[in-house]
Amino acid sequence: MAESGLEFGTPIQFLKGVGPSRGSAMENAGISTVQDLLYYFPRRHLDRTAVTRIKDLRESTWATVVADVMVCGERRTRRGKMYEATVSDKSQLLKLIWFNGVDYVSKSLKVGDRLAVHGKVESYQGTQMVHPEYDRLSEGDDPIHSGTVVPIYPSSGELKHVGLDGRGFRRIVRNMLESLPEVPDHFSDDLLSQQNLIPLNDAIRQIHFADQPGLLSKSIKRLKFDEHFFLQLLMAIKKDSIQRSGTKALTIKSNNAIEIIAELDFDLTSAQKRVYSEICADMENPSPMNRLLQGDVGSGKTIVAVLSAVKAVDNKMQAAVLAPTEILAQQHFRTFNKTLINQDISTALLTGKMKVKEKKSILEKTQLGEIDILIGTHAIFQKDVEFKNLGFIVVDEQHRFGVNQRGGLIQKGWNPHILAMTATPIPRTLAITYLGDMDLSVIDELPKHRIPVITKSVEPDRLEKVYSFVKEEVKQGRQCMVVFPLVEESEKSDLAAAVEEHERLSREEFSALSVGLIHGRMKRDEKDEIMTEFENGSIDVLVSTTVIEVGIDVPNATIMIVEHADRFGLTQLHQLRGRVGRGTEKSYCILVERKATDRGKYRLEVMERTNDGFEISDEDLKMRGPGEFFGAKQSGFIRYRIADLMTDGALVHQARDAAFALVEKDPHLSEVSHALIKMRFEREYATYLTSAGIS
Ligand code: ADP
Ligand code: MG
Repeated sequence: MAESGLEFGTPIQFLKGVGPSRGSAMENAGISTVQDLLYYFPRRHLDRTAVTRIKDLRESTWATVVADVMVCGERRTRRGKMYEATVSDKSQLLKLIWFNGVDYVSKSLKVGDRLAVHGKVESYQGTQMVHPEYDRLSEGDDPIHSGTVVPIYPSSGELKHVGLDGRGFRRIVRNMLESLPEVPDHFSDDLLSQQNLIPLNDAIRQIHFADQPGLLSKSIKRLKFDEHFFLQLLMAIKKDSIQRSGTKALTIKSNNAIEIIAELDFDLTSAQKRVYSEICADMENPSPMNRLLQGDVGSGKTIVAVLSAVKAVDNKMQAAVLAPTEILAQQHFRTFNKTLINQDISTALLTGKMKVKEKKSILEKTQLGEIDILIGTHAIFQKDVEFKNLGFIVVDEQHRFGVNQRGGLIQKGWNPHILAMTATPIPRTLAITYLGDMDLSVIDELPKHRIPVITKSVEPDRLEKVYSFVKEEVKQGRQCMVVFPLVEESEKSDLAAAVEEHERLSREEFSALSVGLIHGRMKRDEKDEIMTEFENGSIDVLVSTTVIEVGIDVPNATIMIVEHADRFGLTQLHQLRGRVGRGTEKSYCILVERKATDRGKYRLEVMERTNDGFEISDEDLKMRGPGEFFGAKQSGFIRYRIADLMTDGALVHQARDAAFALVEKDPHLSEVSHALIKMRFEREYATYLTSAGIS
């Protein structure tokens, strides 16, 4: 194949220097075409400023050095093979050590090689790095003296075995760029200058081989912008298509909401009122609401859900309320019934564990429209559940369900209005990225007279004191919860631990109190009974597994003891703590630290320091990264090549504005000048679009 014939779609094996065996290794790594290789960006760039001299290395820091191999070879130890290399950069010597992958290292290193080495500096009979990353440099790659920027490519086992280490990649990428025609830009010159971006052709060439000072950072910015832009374009198109899809506008107004509010034993906070009116405005529109309601634990989202559901019923439509656990579904059922006691509104509970006969009757009534508000768990998603006219859906604790529930839900009605609720305060950049097609309402105010929960982390030897304090509080008429986590590697399950502790506490410390037990394996009736007893105060101390985490609302409970607290994530701890401090009494959250790692300890410190859900979720995000923060379900469809949500805040907003402006002007991207944008968009999100039913 003639080099001049290089096109973006050319299969990778035809690229100079590749061939069939490298070609297939690259394909396995997701690089099938020239285009894929163009977008296979360096993981890092090595320039003069990134390199440290060996004599300046500091213990326990991560650093990169450029040095020559002086001696290297395998050694046998009692525990097996190891490989050692000593390198020098003329300032001092550094020892590199490998215990794994010895065969590969020994094949790939020889005396005289110049390496860029990246690793954690340790001190053990001199300065050393164990299992450093390394990249062999060629003659021309001299970040120190010539001032070039060396791209460091990600490479892995199979690629390295066919010679595609960093150096191999640099060689073939250079070949490719030399014979590649200009990369056409999907953005117009106008847009580039408006957004202050450099052309794609420059950005892509410079990210691989930065030879013009100052352009590398602009290239990175341009390529990050592109990634954010196309994701935001997806959000804009989804949002636009939801808006266009049309639904019944719920414009009938009754006095029911006013009556309900008047009967509450509290006044709504102004945040609750504001959010409720945002929801009403949405529902009165002939396009379906798609709104996320964020509010910290205890901020009073449930009453907002009740009032919104009543609005649907006022309009002769049915409402569904979805909860992630049975216990929460049951509690919502009780709350709805209590709040709606003087209304002519029929409610029903539907969960997976119901008896067949009971379930059948509820399904029938739902289908006939005899049930106005159906409250339940995932069971509501099931095929056999049919509504007569479903107009409104609440998804409580939305973060437990995953980003794409919308598809499954709207089939149950004709584009019903959807209100998702979450107590996980999502930092704004993340919210618009992962949930960017939703409108956002925030309850940013806790009900009046709430006293902040006092949080204390304790070691087990302080527990006796804690228990006497619990007895004191119970004497004052208060209640306490003790929660056990899932302890995976121990021989005891959370269930066993809770059962055992329930027995022990009822026998010993709390023998004079009424101690209850609740866990996930109990039958619904049993759980229901226990929860009712806890709610009405006949149980003083409730021992539980984490089933209690979500939603439970018992304002008289003032102490939450979390066992093995160091094992919980921050968001979860914050949710657990939210189970107390719901009434007007002072409340306490005791975090029992059993075997804390550094990270575990830090989490407990954060909990002691702040009650602010946003601060906690920020910390959580920093510790876990967006993927884990949301769980696999939610982050499934975003895999950034170069963008980084943690640092790109401003750029995300910029890209979002640009994408939304584009869709407003040209919703189907049908203008000729948008053809390239459309092409790339479809390439990246085609599968996503079909699964979401958008075309
Ligand atoms: P969450 O937002 O965590 O779901 P809930 O809706 O369960 O919170 O409300 C927590 C508690 O606060 C409930 O007992 C509820 O009745 C009460 N509550 C809700 N709104 C107010 C308010 N405006 N003033 C006082 N108490 C309120
Ligand atoms: Mg709730």
